[in-house]
Amino acid sequence: MTTATPSSILDQKRYDVIVVGAGFGGMYAVHRFREMGLSVLGVEAGGDVGGVWYWNRYPGARCDLMSLDYSYSFSPEIEQAWTWTEQFAAQPEILAYANFVADRLALRDLYAFNTRVVRADFIKARNLWRLELDQGQVLETTYCVMATGPLSIPKGVPFEGAADFQGEIYLAAKWPQEEVSFAGKRVGLVGTGSTGIQIVPEVAKTAAELVVFQRTPSFTMPMRNVPIDPDYAAEIKRNYAGMRQGARNSAIGGVRPQSTRPFFSVAPAQRLALMEDAWKQGGLAFLGTFADLLTNAEANEQVAEFVRGKISEVVKDPETAEKLKPRGYPIFARRPCLDTGYYEAFNAPHVRLHDCLSDPIDRLSPAGIKTAAGEVELDVLIFATGYDGLTGALLNLEVTGREGLRLRDVWQDGPVSHLGLMVAGFPNFFTVAGPNGPAALANLILLDQQNVDWIVEAIEHMRRHQLTAMEPSPAAQEAWLETIQALAQLTLVSKANTWYTGGNIAGKPRGLSMYTGGYLRYAEACRLAAETYDAFQFQSLAKPAEKRASELAQ
Ligand code: NAP
Repeated sequence: MTTATPSSILDQKRYDVIVVGAGFGGMYAVHRFREMGLSVLGVEAGGDVGGVWYWNRYPGARCDLMSLDYSYSFSPEIEQAWTWTEQFAAQPEILAYANFVADRLALRDLYAFNTRVVRADFIKARNLWRLELDQGQVLETTYCVMATGPLSIPKGVPFEGAADFQGEIYLAAKWPQEEVSFAGKRVGLVGTGSTGIQIVPEVAKTAAELVVFQRTPSFTMPMRNVPIDPDYAAEIKRNYAGMRQGARNSAIGGVRPQSTRPFFSVAPAQRLALMEDAWKQGGLAFLGTFADLLTNAEANEQVAEFVRGKISEVVKDPETAEKLKPRGYPIFARRPCLDTGYYEAFNAPHVRLHDCLSDPIDRLSPAGIKTAAGEVELDVLIFATGYDGLTGALLNLEVTGREGLRLRDVWQDGPVSHLGLMVAGFPNFFTVAGPNGPAALANLILLDQQNVDWIVEAIEHMRRHQLTAMEPSPAAQEAWLETIQALAQLTLVSKANTWYTGGNIAGKPRGLSMYTGGYLRYAEACRLAAETYDAFQFQSLAKPAEKRASELAQ
């Protein structure tokens, strides 16, 4: 469904706040700012709400967080009115939920859809942001809130020759709205991350032939998705508040089994029994089996070996099984995938694994894919090659702050900000789920809400004290970066070449820029920062010189 943007929405040129993005973060931001009484406009490149769930309509798309948890917690009415049908919801249900919320809160009237912000400049003399849109309009706003999401700029087709290919080409991350048929076709899929792993079993159901081009194998575990029992859903609805409290007090900001038991504290036979049990339970159970899977390399390797053993148990052809086994990086250092019949799909005679490590893709050809050793003829190509994550969307437009400072330059060695919320030199410019927060390591809907609530509070603080602009001090930003780097040393997450570390994009600065201390500690750091705002510099109408919040009466 595409919602046309009424031309009148862009007739107004000056706003208190412009929110970029209509994913779960942007929708909530627009709602909160309107409740505050601010004039607010949302700008969204897509045709409707939903963000990543609007674009990712590929077959098999499904969330790997539990539906009951991956949902807004700010409105008891919405919680009671919406009922999830599956433990792990599929994309259509999540998109329907986003639409349900947008209808209920009448959010669409505040959005310009099919519209992209192409540049944002801070105009110091007027203390406002000037936003340029792709159709040429210029808007002005006091506060600029970027709810652009950590995964919104697809890496696309990373090979030459796409224009030569005579068949159909699809990007998983920009899947068409109309149905795509694979019946009787020879399909090639490039990419075996969370996305590719979800696509394989679905396409295998109807394609005449499926060739999976794998470079780095992923670890994946059975999702074992089930419908949500209505009695259980009703019970959760009665106890939502308690469940949300538990999520807020956890490391990922969501319901996930947790363990305090180190791997080697358990006898080998019992360890094996626990791993077997977690495999049978499926879903996220595995991560709750032992406490030190992301910090103890030896424990991690033993679990990795257990999963490799499972691959051999499922995949009948030993050569294919060997190629599917991930090696050389810790399990869970890449986002752990949850699948439904991924390894099983390779037992079908029409599904074949092409190992790009031994025979890399050279380019696309009119007939298919040319590799170093030959050519694979195909009718359809699907690229599930990932994203320019975390910073991609923010650097995809030109952002200039005070004195013409370019975000691109400030972030040339990697993103720096305070709390993933604000960048020194960019007054009144806020990022939701920004690259120096827990971002992809947390339940994003909860993180979106927490970030937006923090921004709302900061703006209320400024208005209460007649402050006109805020930005973090460079020292606070530096200290936050040091915290991130110190924490990164403690985890195995930085040990794999992934979008987490920028390793998937040529020329991108390498390093773990996300906060790995967990949602709870992160939220506490944000809360403390808002107690004094000591880490921020403010401009005031009454006193134009920069001043710190602690100088102000609370
Ligand atoms: P991804 O994890 O970055 O995987 C991209 C895949 O494309 C990798 O297998 C990569 O191989 C391959 N690739 C990239 N360039 C290539 C090239 N030139 N030649 C051969 N292979 C190439 O991306 P994703 O699967 O879209 O997942 C991204 C994130 O989205 C996930 O980590 C997750 O956070 C989120 N997601 C979540 C769900 C869910 O909730 N279930 C589903 C989908 C996505 P290399 O590793 O060798 O580069």
